[in-house]
Amino acid sequence: MVKENLLEVEKHIQAACKRAGRDRSEVTLIAVSKTKPVSMLNKAYESGIREFGENKVQEMMDKYDELPSDIHWHMIGHLQRNKVKYLMGKSYLIHSVDSLRLAQEISAQSVKHGVETDILIEVNIAGEETKFGISGEETIQLVTEAAKLPNIHIQGLMTIAPYVEDPEENRMYFRKIKELSVDIADKKIDNVHMRILSMGMTGDYEVAIEEGATMVRVGTGIFGERNYGLKS
Ligand SMILES: *Cc1c(COP(=O)(O)O)cnc(C)c1O
Repeated sequence: MVKENLLEVEKHIQAACKRAGRDRSEVTLIAVSKTKPVSMLNKAYESGIREFGENKVQEMMDKYDELPSDIHWHMIGHLQRNKVKYLMGKSYLIHSVDSLRLAQEISAQSVKHGVETDILIEVNIAGEETKFGISGEETIQLVTEAAKLPNIHIQGLMTIAPYVEDPEENRMYFRKIKELSVDIADKKIDNVHMRILSMGMTGDYEVAIEEGATMVRVGTGIFGERNYGLKS
C-alpha cells in the first residue's frame, strides 16, 4: 500500500510542478510517519524515501535507532525546550521554531554538542488560535533576533494551513507566506536564508507546490489514516 501511495503522490507532485513551471527537483517530499510502525517506514525507505517527518521527540529517537542512518529526520511538531537536547545531531531540520526562547535553547544545545542546527520559523499565517506558530508581523522580529545566535541557521519558513475541504481555500495563505519569505530574503539579514518553504499536507500539497513550497509534508496520503486510539 505504501509503495502504491507513494507512486500516486509522486504523480501529483510532478503534475503540480508542471502546472507551476517548476522543476521537480525544487520540491522535497517529506513522508510524515508519526504514529506509524517502523515496518511501514521501511516500506517507504525501500521506495527511495529518505526524508521522514515526526512530531514527537521520543518517537523520532526510537525510530532513529531502528532505521538506516542515511535518513534525514525532520522535527515538525511543537517542541518543548527541555527536549531539544535529544535532537542534537540527529534532526536534519527543525521546522517548528516559534519563539526566541526555543531558538536560544536550540542554539545553546548546539554549541554544547558542537553541532550546527538548521531551523525553520513556524508561522501561523491564518492566525488560528488553536495552532502554534507566530504571526506574520512577529516573524521578521524573531528572524532578526534568532539570526544572531551561534550554531543555528534559519533556512526558511514553515506553516500549517487550516484544515479545509477545498484546498483552493488555502491558496491565499500559501501565497502570503511566500510573499513574507521574499520580503525577509530582501532584507539580506546575516545568517538568514529563505531557501526553504515547508508547506502543504495531504489535503493541499498540490496547491502549496503551485504557490512555491519547496518541502511538502505528506502523512495520510502515504501511510493512510492515523489511529490515535491504538498508537500515539
Ligand atoms: C501530521 C502532520 C502532517 C501530515 O498531515 P497529513 O494530513 O496526514 O498529510 C504535516 N505537517 C505537520 C506539522 C503534521 O503534524
